[in-house]
Parts: sequence; structure tokens; C-alpha cells
Amino acid sequence: MEQKINACNNLLELVGNTPLIKLNKIAANLEGNFYAKVEGFNPGHSSKDRIALYIIEEAERRGLLKKGSTIIETTSGNTGFSIAMISIIKGYDCILAVSSKSSKDKIDMLRSMGAKVYVCPAHVSADDPRSYYEVAKRLHEETEGSIYINQYFNALNSEAHYKSTGPEIWQQTNGHITHLVACSGTGGTISGTAKYLKEQNPNIRVIGVDAFGSVLKKYHETGEFDTKEIYPYRIEGLGKNLIPTATNFEVIDEFIKVTDEESAHTAREISRTEGLFVGYTSGAVMQAVRQLEEMGEFNEDSNVVVIFPDHGSRYMSKIYSDQWMSDQGFFDSKNVEEPQKIEFLK
Ligand code: PMP
Repeated sequence: MEQKINACNNLLELVGNTPLIKLNKIAANLEGNFYAKVEGFNPGHSSKDRIALYIIEEAERRGLLKKGSTIIETTSGNTGFSIAMISIIKGYDCILAVSSKSSKDKIDMLRSMGAKVYVCPAHVSADDPRSYYEVAKRLHEETEGSIYINQYFNALNSEAHYKSTGPEIWQQTNGHITHLVACSGTGGTISGTAKYLKEQNPNIRVIGVDAFGSVLKKYHETGEFDTKEIYPYRIEGLGKNLIPTATNFEVIDEFIKVTDEESAHTAREISRTEGLFVGYTSGAVMQAVRQLEEMGEFNEDSNVVVIFPDHGSRYMSKIYSDQWMSDQGFFDSKNVEEPQKIEFLK
């Protein structure tokens, strides 16, 4: 007789349905109530599990994937990890073209998950044959029966969030959400989530977080793609040097830019104050909230949902390394706390 065992059939059943967690200490001096959708609770530790699973299962429904087929993608790391994890469970090969800006941790992690990884130079234009977009396209053409996820230009990216992240937040807040603040990279998270939420209540304010060195904010405000806006920055996964079609600029009310330095310190502060070990862009989104508060965006009735896209373990050699922080000059300012000294006991 079959015994009743309360187990998941596999990891994929755990994608999505992440918790919404009230921010207590980090938001204590801000007007309003602040809640984080903590995407590090996904089995692949980021929001990218949602889009990877949705796009792969859509390709299966369309008959594009068979056992042993190859899945190809460009990725700053998180999408790659999710695709590699899903490929293991479903029996596909996974090839990833990543930017040289990605942390060594992320690249090692992808290789540990069985992916074939190509590291491409970060500071070349998107149409350069060496860019990770062009490398992925070429690999797709050369690999028979492969699919290219193409998250920046794939409408299924935001659709995944329209069908999962949006409804989850609406239910978790019982419809009382007033603001959504989220990072924009491909724009899939903010666009899909905002579209769903604005269909429920068009008055919800949606604010996208962009990086200095990225074109998104200026494009949103003026319609101009200004290459003069482009210069290197350190935050991974946020902002862009091109305009992704996965971004629906119409559902985003405003973009706000944050610095590498303040975002790094804010991520470390979230870990220390809330006990939530979050990634670099979670620091960016919280830094944006602080700037928005100074601009008078919130009042005591505001119920602000921020999206924390991934887990801090991906950044041990970056923002959670005092050496890295010091090498960037991030401890030079008078206003920042000195790193704790390590004591070696005899
Ligand atoms: N944060 C991190 C760490 C990411 O990897 C990404 C994805 N590039 C984002 C934020 C932004 O999410 P989206 O691509 O959905 O805009």
C-alpha cells in the first residue's frame, strides 16, 4: 500500500509564493509601512526562478524542447542559475553567456550546476560580436534544436510576473498596497507585476530603480536612447545599456537612480538590522526608498512593497567582502561605519 508522505515531487513545486516580510528596523524612521517581497526564498534563491520555469514550460507546451535539448541564455548569473537548476530536473543541457562583471561566486556556482559558461567582456556595446548578447545568438544558431531564452526581448518574461508576482502581492496586501518599488534590469519583474497591480487599482504608484551609468531613466523621461548616459558601474542586474522590449515603460510612473556605494552599504545594513541576508540590488531598492522618502513620496498611510530580488550568498566576494568594499573606496567617506575587525584568538 502506498504510504502518505508529505514531500514535494521536486524543487520546481517550490518556485514562487515567496513571503512578504514587514521591514521593521531599516524602515523605522520612514513615514509609512514597508514590506519586502523576499525572492531569495525561491529554490534557486532569486526571482529568476519564476521566469525560467515559465519560459521553459511554455517552450515545452509549444513542442520546442525534447529530452537532451539545449537551453541558451545571456545572464548576469541569477537567470543562469535558475535555468541550470531547472535543466537538471527536466533533463536539458544548459549553455550560458555571462558578463565579465559577474562575480566569480556566480560563475563558479553556474558551473557547479552543470552549465557550460562563456565569460564575455562587460564594457563593449550590445551589438559588438564579443558582447554576451551576440555570443548567445551565435551559440543558438550553431546548436541544433536549442532554444534561446532571450530574457531582455521575450514577452514571456514579464508575463511570468504578471501571472505570479503581481497576484501574490495583491493577495498578500489584501489590496492595500499603495506603492511598488522595484529594480529594473530586463524590466520583466516591475513591468509584469505593475501591470497586474494597476489593473486592480490604477492609483498604485510604481517606481523603477535604475543605476547611474544606465539609459533607462532618461529614456523613460524623454524617449531618447542616449549613449552618453552609459558608463561602467558595479551593481549587477540593475539598469541597462540598451532598451529591453521586456520593459513596459507605460506602467512605470517614475525611475530613480542610486549609486553603487550607497546601495552596497544599504544592503549590508538590511542584513545587519533585519537579519535578512540580501543581494546588492535589494540594497539598491531600499536606498531608492530612502531617496523617495526625502522627496516626500510617502505618508503615514503608505503601504510600500519593495522587491528584494536575490540572496546575499551570491555576493560574498563583493559587497560582503570588507576588502572589496575598501578597494572600491566605499569606506572612505566620513559617514560610513568602519568594518568590524576580525579577532584571532590564541
Ligand atoms: N536584481 C538582480 C540581482 C537581478 O539579477 C535582476 C535581473 N537582471 C534584477 C534585479 C532585475 O530584475 P528584472 O530583470 O526583472 O528587471
